[in-house]
Amino acid sequence: MNPRGKHRVAVVGAGAAGLCAARHILFRSESFEPPVVFEQSARVGGTWYYEERVGTSDDGRLIHSSMYRDLRTNLPKEVMMFPDFPFDFHLPSFLTHLDVQQYLETYCKSHDIMPHIKFNTMVEEVKPISMETDEGGGMRWEVILRGMHGGHSTQIFDSVFICNGHYSAPHLPSIPGIEHFKGKVMHSHSYRYPEPFAHQSVVVLGAGPSGIDISFELAQAKAEVILSHNKTSLTFSLPPEIRQAPPLVKVLDNGSLFFQDGSVAHAQVLLLCTGYNYHFPFLCLKQLGLEVQYHLVAPLYKYLVLPAFPSLFFIGLGKNICPFLNFHYQVQFALAVLDGTVQLPSRELMEEDVKKGMQRKIQMGVHGKDLLQTKCEQWDYYESLATTARLPPPNPVIRSLYEEVQKQRRANLKTYREINYRLVKATEWQILNAPDKQ
Ligand code: FAD
Repeated sequence: MNPRGKHRVAVVGAGAAGLCAARHILFRSESFEPPVVFEQSARVGGTWYYEERVGTSDDGRLIHSSMYRDLRTNLPKEVMMFPDFPFDFHLPSFLTHLDVQQYLETYCKSHDIMPHIKFNTMVEEVKPISMETDEGGGMRWEVILRGMHGGHSTQIFDSVFICNGHYSAPHLPSIPGIEHFKGKVMHSHSYRYPEPFAHQSVVVLGAGPSGIDISFELAQAKAEVILSHNKTSLTFSLPPEIRQAPPLVKVLDNGSLFFQDGSVAHAQVLLLCTGYNYHFPFLCLKQLGLEVQYHLVAPLYKYLVLPAFPSLFFIGLGKNICPFLNFHYQVQFALAVLDGTVQLPSRELMEEDVKKGMQRKIQMGVHGKDLLQTKCEQWDYYESLATTARLPPPNPVIRSLYEEVQKQRRANLKTYREINYRLVKATEWQILNAPDKQ
């Protein structure tokens, strides 16, 4: 804390989570210095900034975004928005990546965040340091930075918000015999559009949101698609042109793909839609006592506070949730911890709470990879953050619309995005048009 008693906060990343953090820090100027947002690229938006290029950029940076050209959002704008910043009224409910990118740029301008972002600046290291020179001691965070055009520097902060996203480091499963595969192996992180796959045989591995979307795109572009996944049954039906297969077991010596039911397929492309690893190359996990597996970051109290270092916050780690709404509550909860509105339990109690929460989920049969997913519990989670941090709870109309969209998605995966919704009087929603029902 500086001599004026204000916290100095660093934010890693200027995607939606980092911008949300910056906006709320600026709003609480009585307790916080303006934030310093470090962004490795030259622009805001993070994953919503579509780059056709794959691999590395001209400045040697790994391409961050996993967006594909024709992506439409899987949440309607009425649910996706930050609760205090609606999307343009004229846009349809389901958006392109460009719509979302423009929304984030407008958010940034409206809240005057831009002057607080250090672009082309990569955070290389974030480490706790003790400050014996401080009155009463205390600890701070040393943030080591590398300019993308050269040069290192170091800055000291009271708190760090980690907003580096978790859809950039592909999770590559180990597939026995993969060296025998004669076709092209790629991850969805590097998929952009379907045309190059026309009339090719493609095995898509994984039936998460990207696996499903990409299978549809490929089938429409006349690729022969086999979707291999480990779900006993999908909660929605697929069109006949997308064949399904059980999990891939191995690649045979002759290069063909061998599935769990003994069936075999020859493919020109193996497209891994197998998700992403959590990735914090700038943290010393051992020093922090942090366990990071591809599907898990622990221990995190309320999915965002590291009990041993309660001034380091991880924003937006949950998957299959409403990301922007989640950022809105997590960021404000974290700020309420820092300004003293929220008193955290002791380190031991927080660790105990995390342990019990995990055990409860494991007993309920939740798989390891879903331990950080708050899809079903997300609404209780937001309520709990809101109540503790004395914030207005989420509007129930958003939850009800979210549930309606999930229902529509299960009923018609192909056309659910053609429906347009409208929030009415902040308490009701309406369907404006439902093309497949007319
Ligand atoms: P990001 O957007 O990934 O931003 C992280 C930022 O941190 C980036 O700008 C990056 O350059 C920067 N950064 C990373 N490391 C460093 C470093 N060391 N130093 C400095 N800067 C760094 N969400 C929805 O709500 N609706 C959807 O329909 C939807 N569809 C999606 C489709 C795809 C294909 C993907 C990949 C995601 C989708 N999401 C969707 C989720 C999306 O990730 C979130 O909406 C949200 O944009 C994540 O924001 P973020 O700020 O956490 O991460």
